[in-house]
Amino acid sequence: MRGQRSLLLGPARLCLRLLLLLGYRRRCPPLLRGLVQRWRYGKVCLRSLLYNSFGGSDTAVDAAFEPIYWLVDNVIRWCGVGRNDIATVSICKKCIYPKPARTHHCSICNRCVLKMDHHCPWLNNCVGHYNHRYFFSFCFFMTLGCVYCSYGSWDLFREAYAAIETYHQTPPPTFSFRERVTHKSLVYLWFLCSSVALALGALTVWHAVLISRGETSIERHINKKERRRLQAKGRVFRNHYNYGCLDNWKVFLGVDTGRHWLTRVLLPSSHLPHGNGMTWDPPPWVTAHSASVMAV
Ligand SMILES: [Zn+2]
Ligand SMILES: [Zn+2]
Repeated sequence: MRGQRSLLLGPARLCLRLLLLLGYRRRCPPLLRGLVQRWRYGKVCLRSLLYNSFGGSDTAVDAAFEPIYWLVDNVIRWCGVGRNDIATVSICKKCIYPKPARTHHCSICNRCVLKMDHHCPWLNNCVGHYNHRYFFSFCFFMTLGCVYCSYGSWDLFREAYAAIETYHQTPPPTFSFRERVTHKSLVYLWFLCSSVALALGALTVWHAVLISRGETSIERHINKKERRRLQAKGRVFRNHYNYGCLDNWKVFLGVDTGRHWLTRVLLPSSHLPHGNGMTWDPPPWVTAHSASVMAV
């Protein structure tokens, strides 16, 4: 009996609530309803405009913990941690662990990354020592693909665009639904490929410049600051990881012999990068090459 009653009470309560809601809507004048909607919309817009990811609780906690990080950094140095076999230049304040040269802490991945270049939001991952080559190859070949697609479909795009433009003319052309979809898809394809080619092309060129200089994106800022600081003292800054343009590319791509340009650069290859990301001794052939240049 109790079960039957509860079975009836549930839908009855739901109907009552719906009726109350409808009654409220009817009672609420349209002007007031419009104002309430505008107020809510304005609130969403304002919040979107003023949203600051640096104003989050994580940033506030980090700022509050800064004196503790400083203490940890200095105490650990004083205790001698980091003077072991790992070649370190500092201690990571977040991981409280020795940090090798070129390593940086990523606050998004919440870990230290060897030879960190940047955190890529598109890949949702950090670009560092072990995947920097894959990242660059992806950007380079993707740009080439988009350029090829844009260039190859230029005539098709022009035809499709002209067909779309004549819709407003009288008498209107008699294109079928399928043809209209094809025209719009072609225009969409061309614009998408061209914009990706431009954006990704610019990123690829920028990374190519950095690789040629033997720098990562983070080191670019650090080295720039250091260069200015030493310049003010009348000294010249030297990047220890810059082996010369061609050698930088060879080290980056893992090209040890001439054949590797084909097998390791043009064709897919899973070879590991030079070194372990902890120590940064140049490969033997770079050292030999530098020695011969110095001898000349
Ligand atoms: Zn760390
Ligand atoms: Zn990251």
